[in-house]
Amino acid sequence: MSRVFNFSAGPAMLPEEVLQQAREEMLDWQGAGMSVMEMSHRGKEFMSIAEQAEADLRALLQIPENYKVLFLQGGASSQFAMVPMNLTRDNHKVDYINTGSWSKKAIAEAKRYADVNLAASTEQTKFTMTPEQAELNLSSDAAYVHYTPNETIQGVEFPYVPETGNVPLIADFSSTILSRPIDVSRYGIIYAGAQKNIGPAGLTLVIVREDLIGNAADDTPVMFQYATHSENGSMYNTPPTYGWYLAGLVFKWVLGKGGLTGMSAINQRKAEALYNTIDSSDFYANPVAPNSRSWMNVPFILADASLDSKFIEGASAEGLKTLKGHRSVGGMRASIYNAMPEAGVKTLIDFMVEFERVNG
Ligand SMILES: *Cc1c(COP(=O)(O)O)cnc(C)c1O
Repeated sequence: MSRVFNFSAGPAMLPEEVLQQAREEMLDWQGAGMSVMEMSHRGKEFMSIAEQAEADLRALLQIPENYKVLFLQGGASSQFAMVPMNLTRDNHKVDYINTGSWSKKAIAEAKRYADVNLAASTEQTKFTMTPEQAELNLSSDAAYVHYTPNETIQGVEFPYVPETGNVPLIADFSSTILSRPIDVSRYGIIYAGAQKNIGPAGLTLVIVREDLIGNAADDTPVMFQYATHSENGSMYNTPPTYGWYLAGLVFKWVLGKGGLTGMSAINQRKAEALYNTIDSSDFYANPVAPNSRSWMNVPFILADASLDSKFIEGASAEGLKTLKGHRSVGGMRASIYNAMPEAGVKTLIDFMVEFERVNG
């Protein structure tokens, strides 16, 4: 067996230790005589898995008591609709900050349910920066403010948490959750698809302040109401049990790395090493303003785009996979989530330096 360094934006690498434990427990989970995939979600074995995963996530993020943690399906994309469906019954005015492709999708969906005020947009800069707090044109009477802390495609990450006063702040944390400590109490809702930094695709995490639950518009389908899932411990219907279990293994793995403080030190080292390599050469370039550069998704272009396919092929031969940039941005993108080992980034950097030496 030889495992590659997979720089995919998602589904992305999982920690090897997690995969090994899942393999060991695949046929017989801790003496249950069956796989987690075969268990009733209401049985005591799975309940213990579910409760432990939530407890570990709460410990990692220091989630306050007055927040519920929901283990849902439908991806972050479903949350683009669930957020306005659940929060705009009495007030249709909502603020959105547009910093990239995922913000745009969230905005397009919100427009179907609410009156969207664009509090800021960096589209004119081709999404190469984040707006400053003073540039946010926030409405004091909005039902909520929505933003994307990390734009996975453009590689743009907010260096601060927007201050929204009494208006709940809603955040799509899909590609940066668990990469560093955050203050959950600053948010009304945090949501994330699992397939970047949590576990396999199919699980969607929602952390929601209790006072924001139970306010869905009357015609909201039961499955799209936060109250349904909150009142039923995310087991109103069959939850994504195996994804929940694997997420629990990942949470334990992050705890073992020193929690989010430990994880963030590792992530910072990986990102800085890669950006330093890009910045110290005229051969590679990253267009994002230095204070808004993502620790998780690092897009870069080659000065000579005709070398792109040679770069991709050469990298692939070294076991460096899925480096092709998003079709809307071009060039390369290295997604270096929690599970990407420092050795993977080092191997990429060594390859980049050598590629430049030969082709520069
Ligand atoms: C990947 C991603 C999404 C889409 O997630 P799905 O789970 O595929 O719906 C949304 N927002 C951000 C920031 C993402 O990175």
